[in-house]
Amino acid sequence: MREFESFLGGEIGTLSSGDLLRRLRTVEGAGGPRVRCGGRELVNFSSNDYLGLAAHPAVVEAARRELDRGFGAGASRLVCGTLPAHERLEEVIAHFKRTAAALSFSSGYAAAMGTLPAICGSGDVVILDKLCHACLVDAARLSGAKIRVFPHNHLGKLDAHLRWARTTHPAARVLVVVESVYSMDGDVAPLREIVELKERHGAWLFVDEAHGVGVLGAGGRGLVEVAGVGDRIEIQMGTLGKALGAHGAYVAGSALLREFLVNRARSFVFSTAPPAAVAAAATAAIGIVAGSEGDQLRERLWANIRQLTAGSSLAAESAIVPVIIGGEARALEVAEKLFEAGFLIPAIRYPTVAKGTARLRVTLSATHNAGDIDRLRMVLREAGIEPDR
Ligand SMILES: *Cc1c(COP(=O)(O)O)cnc(C)c1O
Repeated sequence: MREFESFLGGEIGTLSSGDLLRRLRTVEGAGGPRVRCGGRELVNFSSNDYLGLAAHPAVVEAARRELDRGFGAGASRLVCGTLPAHERLEEVIAHFKRTAAALSFSSGYAAAMGTLPAICGSGDVVILDKLCHACLVDAARLSGAKIRVFPHNHLGKLDAHLRWARTTHPAARVLVVVESVYSMDGDVAPLREIVELKERHGAWLFVDEAHGVGVLGAGGRGLVEVAGVGDRIEIQMGTLGKALGAHGAYVAGSALLREFLVNRARSFVFSTAPPAAVAAAATAAIGIVAGSEGDQLRERLWANIRQLTAGSSLAAESAIVPVIIGGEARALEVAEKLFEAGFLIPAIRYPTVAKGTARLRVTLSATHNAGDIDRLRMVLREAGIEPDR
């Protein structure tokens, strides 16, 4: 026991001396952007609840109705865990994404870890954008496939990797993995061009829309809808716990893809089904996102994004506005200053982002008001990180 504890203590000491130690902080709130944390009231500019649906009465009520029948699903989906709420959610997702079918997972992490290794194995090639989320990287590693990484959004390098894969592994499956909106930079992928490249080289494409769904495209259908390439992408993944305000994730595509994953995605096969209440909440959220209320919420969200970035050096292609600070210690210091000024915007550091690119990841929501955003602009200016032009 003693040796074990001293091993743990040593590791934590190393993190701490590199300004890389993280601590959990408890955040209480009644929905919306105002939260209580460490005895203070803060405006939350760090949540992925971009439309404020996590506390939307219709989403909460949908979950509550299911709770009358119980909570836990009791077993994996393949045993006796598939409930009408799961079936309904998957039909609604497929309709929303305009795909033939969809399969839900307990989380985005589980969706990636189940799907990638089911599609690719040793002898195959997975090509990822450098800024892909950790779950996509972990899933590619787990698959045992050869991994190639191209610099962020660099089509030339992607083309070179595809060429290399085709020459050196002529019989391999080649899977390109990208996000639609990158989670720590908030910029978007050149999806059309990526689709054209993968088609030219006979590769397949996996797009993670975690931060695109609900925010971009007609009806909040995501960047795939904006680019008009939905029917040319083999695997579309998205999460239900961000703009949709619920929990879990989906993979959308053909009916065969769904049937294949039901059989082969290990995080699906060997894991207890999510509670029906969770599925029902997500179903209700999609109804809101795709309807006229969703349009209104997106209008408000985009007005907020414009208000934060207008006339500044900040740029935004999504609800994520990165304020790059650089050093880890300095980023912590600025985050602390913001905390003192009444804002919850934790510093994002390695290993979430590359060393030396620590940042404040400011996220906007339809529920922020103009006063909150003006005050944030002022505080960023005072902290010397955002000189107005
Ligand atoms: C959040 C996120 C995930 C993981 O989804 P969870 O449901 O939170 O596990 C996957 N991919 C990206 C790009 C994400 O931002």
